[in-house]
Amino acid sequence: MAFATATLVNLVENKELVLNFLESKGIISEIKSKCNLYMQNSDSDNKTVPLFFALRIEFEEVKKKLIELITNLPLHFLSILNEVIQSIANNYLRDCGCELFIQIQQIHSSFVVINLPQREYTFSIYKEYINTSLSTFSCIISSRKPIEKYILQSTWKCTLCFNSPLIIVQKQKTVHKAPKCQICYKDCTELILNRVSSNFCSARVFETNILKNRKNYPTVSSLEIRLFDDICQDLKIGQEYIVTGIYDVFNKFYNVFSISLV
Ligand SMILES: [Zn+2]
Repeated sequence: MAFATATLVNLVENKELVLNFLESKGIISEIKSKCNLYMQNSDSDNKTVPLFFALRIEFEEVKKKLIELITNLPLHFLSILNEVIQSIANNYLRDCGCELFIQIQQIHSSFVVINLPQREYTFSIYKEYINTSLSTFSCIISSRKPIEKYILQSTWKCTLCFNSPLIIVQKQKTVHKAPKCQICYKDCTELILNRVSSNFCSARVFETNILKNRKNYPTVSSLEIRLFDDICQDLKIGQEYIVTGIYDVFNKFYNVFSISLV
């Protein structure tokens, strides 16, 4: 019980940290102006439009507790960020007398940490314990695949139950399974016109540090990196880049949050 209470307190505290940060960066007004657009455009057909928020976070400028949350638990930070944005947006919509509300699956947040110290946060697959927190490393592209499409967001409805709510499903990289209706438990049907696609690309890279010290490594392994949405681009083979992101241990690829040429 003590653990659950501590986690709950942290969650409240973390939400407050994120809220204060959004206020200090003027993001609240950005959320409200996106809500205004949403209200103008949202007839029943497009009330499931996605809302994008891209945050630039300067490492040196952010409070220690918040930067610890961002770097140690980047996915947890993203989910808190989405929840805080959703609650600001829905409070604002309610204050405006709007009957629509925004589902959490409609909010797509991303962030970059500017000036993340390379020395302290370096990622390497050669480390004894692979770093799964926010990290950065320099790499050289050895091969790459063309840019592909994936489903960023899809909307589903039960055709049998008239009053069933729209179900929004976020980020699907492969062919998706229909969600079940919450009333009759039958498969829902996708509203194809509401489908939102986005781009992703992948490449295999070598860590620059390992290539430079090749003598110390009998074999040099490559690593897969993936770039989604706005940062997806044609990567040049042989070119060196600095990437920041997180390693997905289960799917064994590095999810890039930001990329720049060396
Ligand atoms: Zn149904």
